[in-house]
Amino acid sequence: MLDPTTKEQRELWTYLTQELQSFLDRTSDYPVAPSLDQSEVRAFLQSDVLEAGVGTKAAIDHVILGMKNHTVHTTHPAYYGLFNPRANFPAILADTITATFNPQMAAWSHAPFAVEIERLLIQQLGDKFGYQTIDGVFATGGAEANQTALICALNSHFPNYATTGIAGIAGKPVLYCSTEAHHSVLKAARASGLGSEAIRPIPVDNFLAMDCNQLKINIEQDLKRGHKPFMVVGTFGTTGTGSIDPLLKIAQIVDNYGLWFHIDAAYGGALALTDIGKRHVAGISKSHSLTFDIHKWLAVPMGCSVFITNQDQILSQSFRTTTEYMPKDASDLDVVDPFTHSIQWSRRFIGLKLYLSLLTFGWNGYQEMINRTLNLGDYLREQLLAAKYKIHNHTVLPVVCFSAPESEKSSAEICQHIVNSGKSWLSIYPVDGTSTLRACINNHQTESSHIDDLVDLINQFAKTS
Ligand SMILES: *Cc1c(COP(=O)(O)O)cnc(C)c1O
Repeated sequence: MLDPTTKEQRELWTYLTQELQSFLDRTSDYPVAPSLDQSEVRAFLQSDVLEAGVGTKAAIDHVILGMKNHTVHTTHPAYYGLFNPRANFPAILADTITATFNPQMAAWSHAPFAVEIERLLIQQLGDKFGYQTIDGVFATGGAEANQTALICALNSHFPNYATTGIAGIAGKPVLYCSTEAHHSVLKAARASGLGSEAIRPIPVDNFLAMDCNQLKINIEQDLKRGHKPFMVVGTFGTTGTGSIDPLLKIAQIVDNYGLWFHIDAAYGGALALTDIGKRHVAGISKSHSLTFDIHKWLAVPMGCSVFITNQDQILSQSFRTTTEYMPKDASDLDVVDPFTHSIQWSRRFIGLKLYLSLLTFGWNGYQEMINRTLNLGDYLREQLLAAKYKIHNHTVLPVVCFSAPESEKSSAEICQHIVNSGKSWLSIYPVDGTSTLRACINNHQTESSHIDDLVDLINQFAKTS
């Protein structure tokens, strides 16, 4: 009843793949950002045909046209935005395979191949981050992975938390992250019943990284007041400026006070996959857990992230429940049912996007791509400095926050001009009270010629009165 005939399905696959491939071939021909006209978008929606439907071909045409005309094309090589990648081709195929087989990943016995793939990937990733003992779970994004971390930290520090909740804790639980940490930590604190006041925002130093003296002072103050510090979140590659918190120093402090150390490496964690980047990630292995988004630098479709921990009991302790209706076929085997490790219950086969990518080009392929992106970041910094722009952040990551000399246009004016031109997309980020232009290279198809075009575009506008 719900499907077209087999013959029609075959024709529709062919039609759809041709349409999608033509977008992949010609992404650069589209304006990076659409004009934001809400009434136009709403008028384009076909609310009037939803009772009866219009048939698959007309539906595909409608949706693809809408996606082309009313989307910021994060897949465009001149999109210098917020870590949103152009998905690599094998990963797009992977999502199609996942949708087709639709394996139920709650229980091992329903999808042993898929569950074991995710287990293998978690093991390999944990190993690359330098963990000895490795457990983990795929998550929909960094926000879910950070939420998982917070729940694990609560369960680890307050062993009765799973039963008695926050109310059972004698004192106010508090956690620490820098003022540049991602706001998903804030959301996690709210959603866990801690409230935003449980977060101590620690000031950053001149490198926009956590000030460890301030961290220590804050922990001491909280202890004196009878509060219950339980967790520090270090960021490896902040969203705003790509800064890296001093992980080794934080690890020392965390160790002294017996807290949980989580590292949010949603973006920057990709450095662990390259020989050049590895030396920057040394401190990660000193943590208890980390967040790493596959759907950022590793260029798979959203959402795909991992939470990894070296505490092999904590996920079970935090998420295990027993139910009568879940399958027990594998109860004699030494396997993990993902629903006992995850916030999610019914689970999409998230890991296939990474597995198919690795089967196609391997960790070696990722290493080459990441190194290339790092070089492009350096190239962008060189071009900007040569053109007399000021760079406001310090990072090896390809995120550059810059501004024009004061005599020229403001960052906001330049940003507006570039976004309106449709030729490129970047954003504004305040650094130390200065409004800067933030350009992040995150697309495996971006080349140095695109960087040249970006600097030319900015120059043409900024340097004309
Ligand atoms: C993107 C990001 C997040 C949030 O991850 P989502 O995948 O968007 O949920 C968390 N922390 C950092 C540092 C990030 O860059």
